[in-house]
Amino acid sequence: MSTQTPQRPASPGLRMGRPFGIPVYVSPTWLIVAAFITYTFQPVVANSLPGRGTLTTYLVAFVFAVFLYVSVLLHELAHCVMARYFGLPVRRITLYLLGGVSEIEREPETPAREFLVAFVGPLLSLGLAGIGFAASMVIPEQTILHVLVWQLWFSNAIVGVFNLLPGLPLDGGRMLRAGVWKLTRNPITGTAAAAWFGRGLAVALVVGTLGLSLLPGQEPDWGSLLWSVLLASFIWVGASQSLQVAKVRARMPQLQARTLARRAIPVTPEVPLAEAMRRAREAQAGAMVVVDHDGHPTAIVNEAAVAATPEHRRPWVTVGSLSRTLEPSLVLPADLAGESLIDAMREAPSGEYLLVERGGDVYGVLVTADVNRVFSGV
Ligand SMILES: [Zn+2]
Repeated sequence: MSTQTPQRPASPGLRMGRPFGIPVYVSPTWLIVAAFITYTFQPVVANSLPGRGTLTTYLVAFVFAVFLYVSVLLHELAHCVMARYFGLPVRRITLYLLGGVSEIEREPETPAREFLVAFVGPLLSLGLAGIGFAASMVIPEQTILHVLVWQLWFSNAIVGVFNLLPGLPLDGGRMLRAGVWKLTRNPITGTAAAAWFGRGLAVALVVGTLGLSLLPGQEPDWGSLLWSVLLASFIWVGASQSLQVAKVRARMPQLQARTLARRAIPVTPEVPLAEAMRRAREAQAGAMVVVDHDGHPTAIVNEAAVAATPEHRRPWVTVGSLSRTLEPSLVLPADLAGESLIDAMREAPSGEYLLVERGGDVYGVLVTADVNRVFSGV
C-alpha cells in the first residue's frame, strides 16, 4: 500500500533505521498484529513440525511474523526508491497494524510515473513469492526453514495480489488512476474514478465474505468476517479520503490570492481600534495593515484578536497591540495561486497575509478564513 497523506501523525512509533536514507518507523500497533499472527500461526507450525516443543513452534511463528513485516517493508521500499528515482521527496515509511505506509510528499508528474511507483510494490511482493516458492522446492521438508519459506512465499503472493486490486487506496487503485488519468488527461478524474472503485471493493469484500459464510452447510467464520470488515473499512476510509482530495483539487483553479484578497487600509500602530475600524468601514476595506510613519507595512491586524475585543474596549486598545509583526514568510506575492498558495500558507500558518505586487506595493490582505471558505462544503 502507499498513500500520499498531507497530515502528519504526532509520533509514528519507534524508529528502526534509514535504509536508502528513508526513515522507517514501527508503530506500537504492530506488536498487536505480531502477537495475533504468532498466536494463529503457531498451530500451523506445530502441524508441520511434529515432535517440536511448544516454545519452539511459538518462536518460529513469531519469526514468521517478523519476516512477514520485513517483506512488507521491502514492498514499501520499492515504492519509495522508485519515487526517489523520479525526484519525489519521501518522508518516511511506517509499519502498522494493517501493513505499511509510504509517505511520499509529492505526486508523480505523469501517469506513467504514477503507474510505475504504484506497480513496483506488488511486483516486488510477487517477486519475493516467486523466489520463496523456488527455494521451498529445494529445502528439505519438515524443517523450520521450509515452514518459514513456504508460508512466506504464500503470504507475499497474497500481499502482491491483494494490493493489485483496482481501487484506491491500494496500489492497483493507483495504477487504475494512472490509466484513467492517461485516457482523460485529467488526474482529478483519475483519482475520483479509482476512489469509487475503492469504495466498490470495500463493499464487495464484506458482501463476498458474508455470502461465503452464509452458504448452506457452512459454519460462519467470525474470524475472517471480522478481518474482512476491518480491511473493508480501511479501504473505504482511504477511498473516501482520495475522493475528498479530488474534490479539493477540482476547486484549486478558483484559488487565486488576488481575487480572494481584501482591500486593506494603512494605519499607524498608536491608532485606537475603534477609530481604525471606523476608517476601514468608510473605505469599505476588509483588513488593516499597520504601517510605520514612512508608510512601510510592519504588521497586520489580527482579525481574531479584533473580534475578541469587546465593543466598549475598542476605543482604548491600539491596533498595534492587536497586530502580528510582518515576518518575511507572511508577505506573499499577489499572483500566487493554486497549490503554491496553499504551500506558502502551510509554511507559515497565520490568520492573515500581506499581498504585495512585484514592485513591492501593497495589494491587500489575504485572510485564511476566506481561503478556507473556497473549500467549505467540499
Ligand atoms: Zn504498495
